[in-house]
Amino acid sequence: MEQAMRDFFLFLAKNKTMTKLAKRYGLKFGASRFVAGASLDSSISAIKKLNEKGMPVTIDHLGEFVDNELEAKEMTEHCIDAIKAISKENVNSQLSLKLTSMGLDISDDLVMANMRKIMEAAEKYNVFVTIDMEDYSRCEKTLEIFKRLKREFDNISTVIQAYLYRSLDDVKNLNEYHPNLRLVKGAYKESQEVAFPEKSDVDENYKKLIETHLLNGNYTAIATHDDEIINYTKDLVKKHSIPYDQFEFQMLFGIKVERQEQLMQEGYKMRIYVPYGNDWYGYFMRRLAERPANVMFVVKGVFGK
Ligand code: FAD
Repeated sequence: MEQAMRDFFLFLAKNKTMTKLAKRYGLKFGASRFVAGASLDSSISAIKKLNEKGMPVTIDHLGEFVDNELEAKEMTEHCIDAIKAISKENVNSQLSLKLTSMGLDISDDLVMANMRKIMEAAEKYNVFVTIDMEDYSRCEKTLEIFKRLKREFDNISTVIQAYLYRSLDDVKNLNEYHPNLRLVKGAYKESQEVAFPEKSDVDENYKKLIETHLLNGNYTAIATHDDEIINYTKDLVKKHSIPYDQFEFQMLFGIKVERQEQLMQEGYKMRIYVPYGNDWYGYFMRRLAERPANVMFVVKGVFGK
């Protein structure tokens, strides 16, 4: 039953009509629990609150699967505005983005040109950028673009998904770049041809990725709400005397807030991923898919709480 619900919400996440409607009608159905706000201003105030508590942030201007050049250009400008705002407001924040927003599905030249503009601004204003990982069909291209950009810019990282069979090889192959990587379980609906169907296998692979990347001496962001993975990381760093400035935990805005604060108080770096913008639908559906209990928030949203 739970798997069927998960598949249903991941199917809904890709619905283009719903995406367009959602953009028009603003944050609805309890989406504001997971999305900081519709505007850059609202996300800046959310960042400030988290910074005041001692937590650094990465902000994400929501948007994905852009299929025309003009929109990709607008999304690029949004990212540059966010970089400037981070600098002007002097907040402790990085930037996360999705390559399909910058034109990945349109052409290689377009996505590279847009990414270079963003990275030039990020370099100028000293803001670190992470390329989120999207579905499997875009994984190879995303890694290729990451490598090209990494040769030109130092302040960039990307994401590796533990549910993919290929990921351990990717982590090993990327080692020559000594990259800062964010390791996650993976949020998309993938086939058994490319991804582990069982949670236990995903978790085992996740642990292997963490161990490999950390023991290779690379900076590692462990982006999970899973206590078992968090405790595994704590034990691993203790066992190998890995310094606390070689890794960080990351969690999503609005999820396991008490645990976020607890980890920070224990002395770990705890970064919060703060999404904002009016293209919230796909992101929200993926959060519902992760935890069917979240559907109650939708029901409350629909019936006015
Ligand atoms: P799970 O086993 O799914 O969850 C562990 C526990 O955490 C659950 O039992 C529950 O208590 C809690 N939990 C998890 N999700 C939710 C939720 N939505 N609502 C309430 N409680 C929840 N995925 C990508 O594919 N590409 C990316 O670029 C990417 N970037 C990410 C960045 C950050 C900072 C984080 C934290 C996640 C990112 N993800 C990304 C999503 C990730 O792949 C998982 O889908 C998501 O984190 C849920 O997996 P989990 O590791 O928390 O473990």
